[in-house]
Amino acid sequence: MGLMGGSPLTGPGPEGIQPGPDGGFPPLPETGGLTNAVDWVVGWARSNSLWPLVFGTSCCAIEMMATGASHNDWARFGLEVARASPRQADLIILAGTIVEKMGSRLITLYEQMPGPKYVIAMGACTISGGPFYYDSYSVVKGADRLIPVDVYVPGCPPRPEALLYGVMKLQELIKKGAWRNSLIPRPINHAPFKDEMSETAREWEAKEKLKQEGMKEAQEKFKAENPDFKGVVIKRVAAPKFDEVARVVRPARGLPPAEILALLKTFFPTLGVYNLPEPDAAKLAALGPEYVLDLTVPKEDYLPLISLLRDDARFKLDFLIELTAVDWKDRFEVIVHLLSTEKGHKVFLRCALPHDAHPELPSLTDLFSAANWHEREAWDFFGIRFTGHPDLRRLFLDDDFPGHPLRKDFEDPSRVVKRPY
Ligand code: SF4
Repeated sequence: MGLMGGSPLTGPGPEGIQPGPDGGFPPLPETGGLTNAVDWVVGWARSNSLWPLVFGTSCCAIEMMATGASHNDWARFGLEVARASPRQADLIILAGTIVEKMGSRLITLYEQMPGPKYVIAMGACTISGGPFYYDSYSVVKGADRLIPVDVYVPGCPPRPEALLYGVMKLQELIKKGAWRNSLIPRPINHAPFKDEMSETAREWEAKEKLKQEGMKEAQEKFKAENPDFKGVVIKRVAAPKFDEVARVVRPARGLPPAEILALLKTFFPTLGVYNLPEPDAAKLAALGPEYVLDLTVPKEDYLPLISLLRDDARFKLDFLIELTAVDWKDRFEVIVHLLSTEKGHKVFLRCALPHDAHPELPSLTDLFSAANWHEREAWDFFGIRFTGHPDLRRLFLDDDFPGHPLRKDFEDPSRVVKRPY
């Protein structure tokens, strides 16, 4: 190659640039052929030695990994060195759902990448929030609301071929940009959220109406000319029938529910059983061998009952499977699932709390260390305070998140686009 005033650099140049009269690269008026040639080489080198910082957050990441693996082998396009560090990467491939809590981390990663740097948004979630555009309080409705995106690769998920095509498009942009300037980052998207689904449905309905009106005359003429025409009958293929597979009922382990209830009633006479008025042994036995005793517990009995279930040698419910909550609009319910690892029986409990701004319940952290994160989750999503919890902070959402999003009365139009059906 003649970079230093010899024969001009030849070969395929950046797209859209016409070669000079001698077949090489045309000098720009204000610069010389040397500058053009160096610029072209820099763009060519940049576009063919992209070092991607991978940001795979959900299912699309699997397709991104497949793109890098041997069958598709993105190294053929110069993406040889996928990095785990932003300081050594010039391309970030966003593959998957981005939630609000990740947002600030993503911006930090982008800022830590040296320039010039590029962004590919892969998949519907990254482009617009995808299936989570509606009714989601936590999903960012498009990565371009956080950082500039150069290439969008649609799909749910896009196949590796689509990502490779996106990479090739980016390479074209880099080569074009390098001819005169670096690729200029796109602006951040500040467009307001809108209910696209209703708008599209309205447009579709209007078009359908117009179409029907246009066809009316032709339809009537056809009917008059073909009075016996009955339309097209589509024959359906009968659905195959499969033999029913008998369900294997697992044998019950540990104490039967009726026995647990009878023992507990001696300590807590007001205990009830969920969806079973006036429970007795016959009614509980009729629920089958897989039934797990599902107790309704008054607030004042919540902690003493769970202590007893854990410590009494007859129950030995030593494992907290789950602690969660439900908003029933008129009340909250904290739900606890316990298991005896030694005996094998389980007990479920529900404790109703008034539907006010500050529902409270004693913490189980002194009994089960696993309750720590479960209670933080219930606090984060429902605003239920667990008194005595050593560290009751939000778990999933940012500290300044407004409100508790799994409450039925949660509203935040700056985050949530309501589903139109
Ligand atoms: S676009 Fe589809 S495949 Fe990709 S992360 Fe979202 S839901 Fe998963």
